[in-house]
Amino acid sequence: MPPKKLHVGVCGGGLGGLTAAIAIARAGAKVTLLEAARELGEIGAGIQVFSNVSRLLIRWGLDEIIGDNLIAVDEINTWGADNELIARFDPKLGAKQAGFPHWLVRRDHLHAGLVESARRHGVNLIVGSRVQDFQHTKESVKVTTVHGVEHNFDLLIGSDGIKSTIRRTLFPEWTPQAASTVAAFRGILPYDEVFRKVPEARQLLRNTMDAWIGPNGYVLLYPLSAGTELNVVTLFQMDHIVKTPEDMDLNEFRKLYKDWNPTARKILEMVNYTQKWPLLVLPPKKTWSNEHRNVVLLGDVAHCMQNHMAQGAATAMEDGAFLGTVIGEVIRGTIELLKQLRFPRGGVFLVCG
Ligand SMILES: Cc1cc2nc3c(=O)[nH]c(=O)nc-3n(C[C@H](O)[C@H](O)[C@H](O)COP(=O)(O)OP(=O)(O)OC[C@H]3O[C@@H](n4cnc5c(N)ncnc54)[C@H](O)[C@@H]3O)c2cc1C
Repeated sequence: MPPKKLHVGVCGGGLGGLTAAIAIARAGAKVTLLEAARELGEIGAGIQVFSNVSRLLIRWGLDEIIGDNLIAVDEINTWGADNELIARFDPKLGAKQAGFPHWLVRRDHLHAGLVESARRHGVNLIVGSRVQDFQHTKESVKVTTVHGVEHNFDLLIGSDGIKSTIRRTLFPEWTPQAASTVAAFRGILPYDEVFRKVPEARQLLRNTMDAWIGPNGYVLLYPLSAGTELNVVTLFQMDHIVKTPEDMDLNEFRKLYKDWNPTARKILEMVNYTQKWPLLVLPPKKTWSNEHRNVVLLGDVAHCMQNHMAQGAATAMEDGAFLGTVIGEVIRGTIELLKQLRFPRGGVFLVCG
């Protein structure tokens, strides 16, 4: 059978959508990515990249594009509230066992690397193009943007994140919910400032990732940006369910950790802006596609999850890579493989997360 010519539309250029666009372009399809924002980008917060994603980045040469901004630490330490060492893990040993490294990276650095790779793979990236509506028949999917521009695709990937228009249209009853009153806070601090203001931190932060586990929350610190910046992620049990990002009073934030380890506490006191981030979950579903099997959901659209296992973006990127494999080898009008092979994988993290 001659190879089929496919035009695939990707709605949403986050980490999942970009990965799908690259994988599908590598599979030989024409790819058009529609991104609502006027510029392609991501927030500056850090992200952990485990071996299930670093293997993709290496395979696609993204490790060379992102370079020193992908950081492999020497130790991963878990501390108790009284600063006793609970666990020490050697990531190099982990990398040896998994076959691929554990990296830490700013999300905007990872995103910029994916954008560069997508361009090199010939993906047509269209910004300022918010998808408002789509019609799907057995033959094709017609997408309309808020500016009234129409695009016709053989297959549409819905990668437009937690508030997805594509999901709301197909499955209006699916609503991501907070599983608890726990909310997350994020910030980034320059290392030189941290060492100037908290000199004792030099003994602790030595190209390491450090987590303090305490009552009602945790604090996680790790390096970013070729070791010039310190990522701060903390979680804490609030007195209410956080459903959308809320501004946080810094005194309220500092109070949460007032009795914690002094070094960690002094570092947290340097954070000059943070928000309460909701942690929303979508329970496992019976399908991630429409009845014609030509609109597919991925990433947070299909299976947003708690951040504790650092797998939300990772599984979104896995979804994208998997779609590339399916489209390259077997699509011929059906995407049933997605359901059989990919579906249980998202469920694993939803159950554990
Ligand atoms: C505190 C915290 C820490 C985390 N840490 C990690 C971690 O260490 N590792 C990890 O793997 N995951 C982590 N996650 C999870 C991760 O952030 C998300 O799962 C991931 O970013 C989802 O990617 P996505 O591409 O599915 O969606 P998004 O990143 O939300 O991308 C959606 C894109 O679609 C665009 N869009 C939206 N609507 C439209 C529309 N109508 N038309 C066109 N475009 C549209 C948006 O502008 C955006 O660019 C963390 C989450 C939190 C809250």
